[in-house]
Amino acid sequence: MKEKLRTLHKLGSIISATFNEQELFSLISESLIFKLGFTSCLIFLIDQKSEKIFCKTAIGCRAEQVEYFASRIVSEEIINQLVGEDKHCLISIAEQPGSEEKKFIVVPIIVKEVINGFIITGSNICSKRINEQNLEITSILANQTGAAIENVRLYQGLWDSKRELEIRIKNRTSELDIANRKLKKLDKMKSDFISLVSHELRTPLTSIKGYASILMDEKLGNLNPSQKERLAKIGKHSSSLASLVNNLLDVSRIESGKVEMKIEQVSIKEVLDGIVDVLSPQLQEKNLALKIEIPSDISPVWVDRSQLERVFINLLGNAIKFSPEKAKITVSVLDKKDCIQVDISDTGIGIASDDLPKIFDEFYRADNSINKYKKGTGLGLSLVKRIIDVHKGKISVKSSLNRGSTFSFILPKRKCCQKLNKRF
Ligand code: ADP
Repeated sequence: MKEKLRTLHKLGSIISATFNEQELFSLISESLIFKLGFTSCLIFLIDQKSEKIFCKTAIGCRAEQVEYFASRIVSEEIINQLVGEDKHCLISIAEQPGSEEKKFIVVPIIVKEVINGFIITGSNICSKRINEQNLEITSILANQTGAAIENVRLYQGLWDSKRELEIRIKNRTSELDIANRKLKKLDKMKSDFISLVSHELRTPLTSIKGYASILMDEKLGNLNPSQKERLAKIGKHSSSLASLVNNLLDVSRIESGKVEMKIEQVSIKEVLDGIVDVLSPQLQEKNLALKIEIPSDISPVWVDRSQLERVFINLLGNAIKFSPEKAKITVSVLDKKDCIQVDISDTGIGIASDDLPKIFDEFYRADNSINKYKKGTGLGLSLVKRIIDVHKGKISVKSSLNRGSTFSFILPKRKCCQKLNKRF
C-alpha cells in the first residue's frame, strides 16, 4: 500500500502542476496506473455546454469497451448510484462474448460540486469481487483529477481575462492616442487662429485709436462738446479692445513658444517698487492700503523682468478689483531654500470652491457681483500661469467666499532653463 500511496502522491503532484487541460490527461500514464494496481483506467469528461461525454484517457481498454462504458455511465441507473451515498458504482463487462464478466469501479470526478466526468478503473487480479483498497485509490484519483481540472480552468480563466484586459488596454490606448493627436491638432489650429485674428485686428485698431486721438487734439478743426464726448468713447473702447487683442496674442504666443524671453537676475523689490507706482491711482481710487513685506537682503530671481511685472500687475490688479473700499492688500515675499515665494492676499469677495479649479482657464470668469458690472477678459490668470510655468515656477490659490483670496507663486532662484534666453 505504501508504494501505491507514494505513486498516488506523485501522480497528484504531476497533474496539479500543469496549466493545460489537454496535457493533464496525457500525464496519467500507463506505468503509473499499473503501479496503482490497475490494468485499465478510463477517464470521461462531460462537456458542460453540449452535455456530451468525451473519453480523455483510455489505458488497457479496447475501442468497443470504451464505447460500451461511454453508453453505460450516462444511464440513469449509474448516475443515481454515483450521486447516492456511496459515490461510486460497479459495472460488469465480459472480455469476450460468453466469457466471465469482469468488474470495474466507477467514481465521479467532481469540480465545484458538479459532476464533470467519471474515472473507471479495473484490475485483473481482483476482477470478481470489489477490493476496498482499489475503491479508495480510485476515489483519491478522482479527487486529484477534479482538483487538477479546477486548477487548470481557474488558470485558464485568469489567463483569458488577462489577455482580454491587455487587448482592451491596447485598443483604448490607441484610441486615446488618436484622440490626443486630434486634440493637439485642434489646439494648434485654435492658437494659430487666435494669433492670426489678433494680428489682423491690431493694425486697424491702431489706426482707429490714432485717428481718434488726432481728432480729439483738434488738429483737424475744432470740436463741439458732444463730438468730443463721442470721440472720447471711441478712444476708450478701442483701448480696451486693443488690450483684449494684446492679451489674446500674448496667450497664444506664450503657448506656442513664440515669445522671446530676456532672462536676467532681477530684484523682486525693484520690480514691486515700479508696480506700486503704476497701480497707485487705482489704489487711491478705492482707498486701499497696500502692505509689502520683503526682506531687505532678498535673493534675486532669474526671470524676464517685463513678464514678472505682468504677473504682479495682473494679480494685484485683481486684488484691487475684487476688494471692497478701504481694504488691505498684502504682498509678502519669502526667501526659501531654492526659491522665492510671493503671496498676494486680499480681503475681497473671494472665490467659490467650485470656481477655484477653473480660474486659470482661458476666458473663465466667476459669476460674482463684481464681474457683472466690471469688464474683464478672463485671460489675466491664464497668462500669469503660463508665465510662471515658463519660468519653471508654480502658482496656486487659496480662497474662501466673502473672506478673501491669497495667490501664491514660487520662482526658482537658479537659472533653470538654458533655452530661456532663446526662444522657447
Ligand atoms: P478677469 O479679471 O479679466 O476676469 P482673470 O483671468 O484675471 O480675468 O481672473 C479670472 C477670474 O478669477 C475672475 O473673473 C474672478 O472671478 C476670479 N478672480 C481672480 N482673482 C481674484 C481675486 N483676487 N478675488 C476674487 N476673484 C478673483
